[in-house]
Amino acid sequence: AGTVQRIAAGEVVERPASVVKELVENSLDADASRVSVAVEGDGTRELRVRDDGVGMTESALRTAVEEHTTSKIRDIDDLEAGVGTLGFRGEALHTIGAVSRMTIRSKPRGGARGTELVYEGGAVESVSPAGCPEGTVVEVRDLFFNTPARRKFLKTEATEFDHINTVVTQYALANPDVAVSLEHDDREVFATEGRGSREAAVLSVYGREVAESMTRVDGGTDGVSVEGLVSDPETTRSTREYLSTFVNGRYVTSPVLREAVLDAYGGQLAPDRYPFAVLFVEVPPETVDVNVHPRKMEVRFDDEQGVRRAVREGVESALIES
Ligand code: ADP
Ligand code: MG
Repeated sequence: AGTVQRIAAGEVVERPASVVKELVENSLDADASRVSVAVEGDGTRELRVRDDGVGMTESALRTAVEEHTTSKIRDIDDLEAGVGTLGFRGEALHTIGAVSRMTIRSKPRGGARGTELVYEGGAVESVSPAGCPEGTVVEVRDLFFNTPARRKFLKTEATEFDHINTVVTQYALANPDVAVSLEHDDREVFATEGRGSREAAVLSVYGREVAESMTRVDGGTDGVSVEGLVSDPETTRSTREYLSTFVNGRYVTSPVLREAVLDAYGGQLAPDRYPFAVLFVEVPPETVDVNVHPRKMEVRFDDEQGVRRAVREGVESALIES
């Protein structure tokens, strides 16, 4: 890959967790009912995302790794309407492949044969028939092997894996109807069953003590709906990464939403303690911008005050009723 291409890649691929995020989004977009993530060490040596989604034919697979190809936007109206699928930039596979050695095996649902495509440092190395189950597996090895500057920014193995764990956790919580699992160095970290209930997903991811402390949120006003689960004020952690917020199905980190949740506890939390929350906020798509930056998961609301109020009141009444 050329220099420009590799720099551009750094915008999308900041660290191993960004690769995992893009690949898991692709699997969910592909209608998977099962998504399995496996990571070695800090994720740079090897990580793998497997799904049982719609899969790709040989020609779809060749197209998928080309620059700026997406099967997900048909025209500019789609873009303006706020795209329903998670990915739409059409550059994830291409850019991940530019900074790693990537192997994709895929077989379309009901298709007769599978294909393996090997991609290294931005170029297709080989395409061959492969025996594989329906769906897709993407293996990314030697991430950043050709971008030493990017590699230097990586933190310890524990920190990089934490980021990966956070990403996979968010998708597991947001998609309780999909069985999502995470493995680290051949050890299972968590696995959800994909049977549809948010409570079951929380139980699989956070364990029984947390799951039993959760109470249901079901609120909203003025076109904003707020739904999900929050913990009682005693079940907290010292970091805020367990306070998960989603806007129109998409995981976001939003000070507005976070403060609204904390406000709802109205001084019941011990200093520097954060509750568990898995909150889904739905707003009309035209009133929100969730693509402020491709890799930061930020969000901007037209009516920030309205959203803030709806979330605070929704969580407040859940806590009062519990
Ligand atoms: P985008 O997701 O923005 O379209 P990507 O580079 O992430 O761009 O993927 C390119 C294309 O490859 C997708 O539009 C999709 O058609 C196909 N694709 C990628 N991952 C998968 C997958 N896991 N299953 C089926 N198709 C996939
Ligand atoms: Mg994508």
